[in-house]
Amino acid sequence: MNSFATLMARGLPERIFGCLKRMGREGDRLGVGVYLVGGAVRDLLLGVRNIDLDIVVEGDGIGFARWLARRMGGRIKRYDRFGTALLVLRPGIKLDLASARRESYERPGALPRVSKGDLQADLYRRDFTINSLALCLNSARFGKLFDPYGGRKDLEEGVIRVLHKQSFSDDPTRIIRAVRFEQRYDFSLEQETESLLKEAVAGGLLSRVSGQRIGDELILILKEKRPLKAIKRLDEFGILSFLCPGMKVDEELFHQIEGAFSRLNFLKVEHWTVYLLALVWGIDLKRALQFARSIHLPKRVSALIEDSRRGKGKVDRLLQLSHPRPSQIYRALEGLSSEILVFLLAREAKPKLEEYVGIMVRELSKVKLIISGNDLKELGIPQGPIYRRILDRVFEARLDGKVKGRADELGMAERIWREDEV
Ligand code: ATP
Repeated sequence: MNSFATLMARGLPERIFGCLKRMGREGDRLGVGVYLVGGAVRDLLLGVRNIDLDIVVEGDGIGFARWLARRMGGRIKRYDRFGTALLVLRPGIKLDLASARRESYERPGALPRVSKGDLQADLYRRDFTINSLALCLNSARFGKLFDPYGGRKDLEEGVIRVLHKQSFSDDPTRIIRAVRFEQRYDFSLEQETESLLKEAVAGGLLSRVSGQRIGDELILILKEKRPLKAIKRLDEFGILSFLCPGMKVDEELFHQIEGAFSRLNFLKVEHWTVYLLALVWGIDLKRALQFARSIHLPKRVSALIEDSRRGKGKVDRLLQLSHPRPSQIYRALEGLSSEILVFLLAREAKPKLEEYVGIMVRELSKVKLIISGNDLKELGIPQGPIYRRILDRVFEARLDGKVKGRADELGMAERIWREDEV
């Protein structure tokens, strides 16, 4: 085996490696070139685990995917518009297959016009040299590295470099991608690339890209393990305030969120949304919601932004009580999602609040009333809004340990009704 074949054998799970070898043999049979490309090759060379596999076929990518699904057992999902297919092989291995293609851009930010191309043309349409590497999978050349644009050297030197001067204007989302890769790997932007990036930002090229694509790239940054560095870099280039005037990084808050994630690991949290809350915290609610809509963030994120403001008021009131009863803790924190709890905790940085959240999650959220509206009916209480009032009060008494068991609950319900009648 050559050194890159050995790298694949060592760096990939055995069944995936076996699968790639088999794909190469199937390519031989059909007489098409088959290559592993992009992020997976980059990360193999860096020694970083990545099983997001992109395959390029010099020939009909979708046809090849269909052939593989039949021969190796699996199914495909076609994306005809892009000439790509997702192949899911039986043991659950997923691969993206595409025909090698050439792209041309009619105007900055537009989707590219796509035509058939060879491997070299396919690699030329990529964002950065470090993502323009390919490893051949066909048997005779298995593990041969294709590196027409100097990606390997840039990987070794820790450099992010575009392939040509037009790159950022062809696709301005690459501005955000450059920052993401630079910060993820602790690389630096190559000098000319950095100048081109600054020119692209100054020229307002990002405004030519759809909000959806900007949003997708911002989410990818927020999904990085520690997004603060990349967010700071976006700020440094003036990209944050370009995306949303007034948007700034609160470094302290990001650090506190990281800390809160590790301390509150019993909470199930979608991390990136908490970082997003931090990003828009300094902006007034109306503009924060406009921003979320403009970049097509999911509706649940807009709801979180609103809840974070509402939740702050409730938490502030709770923190003013010196010895809150369990029912007061419950009422202050009920309905707030884990994301909001983590965010507010990080923001407040108060051990008391952390204790209350722990009590809420571990104990109070599990408390259920034994009696229900039916029991009130049987007690002869006429139906109406009073049911909600009675059940709420009995529930709070349960939380505070003042009633235990069904008889207690019924007794209290009856007492409340009588008092109410007086
Ligand atoms: P990650 O580890 O973040 O998933 P990746 O490199 O695998 O990184 P993808 O977004 O999955 O990123 O893209 C796969 C490949 O497609 C990239 O390696 C790159 O070659 C190419 N690519 C993706 N987006 C662009 C773009 N906007 N312009 C040019 N090439 C791109």
